[in-house]
Amino acid sequence: MATTLAPSPTVTGGSFLLNEAEPAAVFTPEDFSDEQRQIADTAAEFAANEVLPAAEDIEAKHFDVTRELLKKAGDLGLMAVDIPEEYGGLAMDKVTSAIIADRMSVLASFSVAFSAHVGIGTLPIVWYGTGAQKEKYLPRLASGEWIAAYALSEASSGSDAMNIRARAVLDGDHYVLNGEKMWITNAGFADLYTVFAKIADPDDPDPAKAKMSAFLIERTTPGLTIGAEEHKLGIRGSSTCPLILNDCRIPVENLLGEAGKGHHIAFNILNIGRFKLGAACVGGSRTSLANAIHYAKERKAFGKPISEFGLIQQKISDSATRIYVGESMAYRTVGMIDAALAGAEGAKEIQKRIEEYAVECSILKVWGSEMLDAIVDHTVQIYAGYGYVEEYPAERAYRDSRINRIFEGTNEINRLIITGFLMKRAMTGQLPLLGAIKQLMEELMSPPSFSGDDGTDDPLAREAQMLANAKKLALFAAGAASQKYMNALAEQQEVMAALADIIMEVYAFDSALVRARKLAAANSSQAGLAGAMTRLYAASAFHIIEAAARQVLAAVAEGDMLRTQLAIFRRLVKHEPADTISLSRTIAQAAIDKGRYPL
Ligand SMILES: Cc1cc2nc3c(=O)[nH]c(=O)nc-3n(C[C@H](O)[C@H](O)[C@H](O)COP(=O)(O)OP(=O)(O)OC[C@H]3O[C@@H](n4cnc5c(N)ncnc54)[C@H](O)[C@@H]3O)c2cc1C
Repeated sequence: MATTLAPSPTVTGGSFLLNEAEPAAVFTPEDFSDEQRQIADTAAEFAANEVLPAAEDIEAKHFDVTRELLKKAGDLGLMAVDIPEEYGGLAMDKVTSAIIADRMSVLASFSVAFSAHVGIGTLPIVWYGTGAQKEKYLPRLASGEWIAAYALSEASSGSDAMNIRARAVLDGDHYVLNGEKMWITNAGFADLYTVFAKIADPDDPDPAKAKMSAFLIERTTPGLTIGAEEHKLGIRGSSTCPLILNDCRIPVENLLGEAGKGHHIAFNILNIGRFKLGAACVGGSRTSLANAIHYAKERKAFGKPISEFGLIQQKISDSATRIYVGESMAYRTVGMIDAALAGAEGAKEIQKRIEEYAVECSILKVWGSEMLDAIVDHTVQIYAGYGYVEEYPAERAYRDSRINRIFEGTNEINRLIITGFLMKRAMTGQLPLLGAIKQLMEELMSPPSFSGDDGTDDPLAREAQMLANAKKLALFAAGAASQKYMNALAEQQEVMAALADIIMEVYAFDSALVRARKLAAANSSQAGLAGAMTRLYAASAFHIIEAAARQVLAAVAEGDMLRTQLAIFRRLVKHEPADTISLSRTIAQAAIDKGRYPL
């Protein structure tokens, strides 16, 4: 099947902090091709007509039902998008891959099983498998005949993944594996596991010399035992078990990638996992909002539907606005990835080009998971008492959402990645951040030029000015922090996280604004609503950016230096507030009229 390419040229990862985005060059959901729309419909219909009706069975861990549905998804081609054509795949673009993650997210237990299979389960073989491994496994994984799992975590090492204890020892033409893995998604019914263990020399007990590696282990391999299912807070219908490796002998041909390079496999897969998780959170949020609106229109209090109350409308508009922003960021990012992947040959080159957007992928993961948590919380509050009991969907979605902040790298680890990665790129000159900070410092020392009103009738002029100042605040805070701590900035985790919050909100705000501008330029009937959501979001993003920048400045400066910095800070945060109450009412009404997310 043909690959659809995003229209944007290659963009440097992280450059959203420095440059004004050109609307025509940014990919948005409005740019989906016919083929992408068709696949979106196929995935959405499958989720609504096949997955949702089976929710009770899935939640009760009737894994035969889950397997059957995974097979049906395979028959529809939904598992084959990232797999090359010669191995039974469709080799489609990453936008399509994100669309499927998004549209499949109506029941989290199923979508987690699906995502683990197509992402961390299958991609290691796509990228690192030998010809023979690909030939043997990929066609079965593409069709859903076999299900895959990825086993990195252990009881004593989750985030600290390089510290795993599982060991492999070479014995003739076999590796013998011992150890225990924990929290493995799909473990209970998977057929194939990518297991990480360190190759050790039995004559040298020095653990530092053991080499991180990955192995393909089939379910029926002697010495592999699947432990009992965990009893979880949420995604109860997904399978999560430990794996026990007890003298598990596998042929040397099942080493995946190079011995000692397993960490590349472990970490490179995660960038894809993160943008898909962001897209899946957008899908879950749409479902949650539609449920909330449906209920709010039906439920009456004080003689009228609760959807007519301003405080209920505020939750609906906040949810709709966050979805708009999340969607804008997610598809902008995958659009950039697809543009960068054009012409890329070979797994190494593909990963390198995806890694360019590691910061954006981590942003999608953190921001998306926190968006979903906020929206399912609004939904429970709208359902109130009925939100707290199992018969209604609000309760399950609330429990299910929580895992997203924990797996695919916790949000703490991803916040550290966002700032750390950008700083590293700045230091190595891959992103001209240091020059931009220097130039900004000179500009800020000169008299103020901000007016807040450029005299045009551009309805988003104030937001454009706020965004420009938000970017300056980001550079100003990052500059002040790196000046104070230099190379030791990474040890100041609270400062790193505050900078990550600023960076994330700048990307969110920027993506919302550029999409609204693109819709306006196309005279779209959606432009007014997108503009309203951008204005509403701008107020909350700026609030977060302002608070985080203030926190950073207070931590890195004191006395006269702090006073000088705060004088500059006040210039940058000055703006006339938007009427967020009337914006909220307008957005909520559009969502209530449509009965769902309104775009
Ligand atoms: C339902 C479920 C499914 C899962 N599926 C899989 C799977 O399929 N395959 C797999 O390999 N794993 C899987 N995991 C494991 C998951 O990836 C880990 O739980 C996660 O990486 C966190 O590791 P941990 O639980 O050991 O927490 P820890 O790493 O011990 O972290 C505990 C806390 O400390 C924080 N922390 C840790 N290190 C730092 C640091 N350097 N700086 C600041 N804070 C830090 C963390 O953010 C967290 O808040 C799954 C987990 C669950 C619950």
